[in-house]
Amino acid sequence: MRIGIDDTDSPAGMCTTYIGAVLVRRLEQSGIRVAEARLVRLNPNVIHKTRGNAAVCIEAEGDAEMAFALACACVEELAEFGAPETNPGVAVAAVRPPPDFYYAALRDFCTVEEAVGVLESVGARYKGYKNRRGLIGAAAAVASDLPDRTYELLAYRKREMWGAPRQVDRESLFLADRATYPRTWDTVDRKNDVVVCVPHTPDPVLFGIRGESPIAVREARSCVRSEEPACEQVYTTNQGTDAHLLPGTIGELREGRSYLVRGTVAGLPVTGPGGHVSLLLEDGGAEVRCMAYEPTKGFRDVVRALVPGDTVAVAGSYKGGSLNLEKIGVSRLAAAVRIRPPVCPACAKRMTSAGTAKGYKCRICGARGREPEVERLERRIRPGWYEVPPVARRHLSRPLVRGVPGWEEVLLQSGRKPGRNLHERP
Ligand code: ATP
Repeated sequence: MRIGIDDTDSPAGMCTTYIGAVLVRRLEQSGIRVAEARLVRLNPNVIHKTRGNAAVCIEAEGDAEMAFALACACVEELAEFGAPETNPGVAVAAVRPPPDFYYAALRDFCTVEEAVGVLESVGARYKGYKNRRGLIGAAAAVASDLPDRTYELLAYRKREMWGAPRQVDRESLFLADRATYPRTWDTVDRKNDVVVCVPHTPDPVLFGIRGESPIAVREARSCVRSEEPACEQVYTTNQGTDAHLLPGTIGELREGRSYLVRGTVAGLPVTGPGGHVSLLLEDGGAEVRCMAYEPTKGFRDVVRALVPGDTVAVAGSYKGGSLNLEKIGVSRLAAAVRIRPPVCPACAKRMTSAGTAKGYKCRICGARGREPEVERLERRIRPGWYEVPPVARRHLSRPLVRGVPGWEEVLLQSGRKPGRNLHERP
């Protein structure tokens, strides 16, 4: 059976993955064998999320009625019912629903009615609390399909520590990263000298180590020195897989969805107030503005190095009319040139414009020149993929160290026919 839980936390506390970890232990104590615990990230653009739009799915074998009772009891005991935006959902399905609803919740927007329809269609037990919105995530978790998967070891704090500053030795995290990268990632951000895996929110999470395998995350964890955790859980996840991306076409992007899109740079990048960088991309006569916000740090320099005519592929969420960049693939660099008035051969001084369509004139000796000087500039960027640093990475974004995006894969993940690549229009 699969047990799905969602929407149990609030900005003031709790975390659905903590309830999942507690439930895993209670199921096992009741003789229900747990085969896998999944941390399923859903559409990062839904407005009702508390933090990272996570839901939990536990795959188990045993008495479904008992599992349902234990899951509901866990949620009733631990969820933040007092918070207006907390609307828990619990579902237990002996028959797994088709993955369509998972993909819809991952890449699009869903309703409670749709979630209930999916759960009813497989005869699942379910319970929605308050406005029942959590049933969307619970149903999506139960229907989840992870063709690509990563792992996260989550360590949780003892209850008396909740809300107090976290005691995690910074050096030990850098050591854990050095010992296991690239089999683990986003423990720290070396370039920006920041710890990434320790949250600052008042929830029960102490730290989370992300990696390619349970062995890798456990190995990294063994390097970490910290306050004593209450418990630890290794989750299988869709984090770091780019599962949220849809192949998109400029001009046809829809609000709140995330895309992989091809285009040609249509104007010089502009750095605006706050250090946010915007870039105009064009394809087939349509344009889209792409944004690299200040928190993406050095990634903005990559965007600033682009010039009109460069051919790129970009990945990110389309929100408020612009595409928020998660990564960028430069496939072809345009020739960058600087056009200036010619230098006067007699005076060795640069001429100035003699007026529209009148060529150039030396202000010293009066000599005339027709052709400007065209200087080919050396590009500061090479073709290839570039990504935001760990400190700015979204949960679902695949680190480049795991492989670069390709249309083939995006189409395969979405269940559509593959056969096109990055250099072809989807
Ligand atoms: P945490 O990461 O700490 O678990 P959260 O960020 O996951 O918190 P939730 O409290 O779970 O946030 O709130 C997300 C809400 O949005 C849930 O009620 C969930 O059912 C709902 N939801 C998730 N995906 C979608 C979607 N694609 N369309 C509509 N609602 C969604």
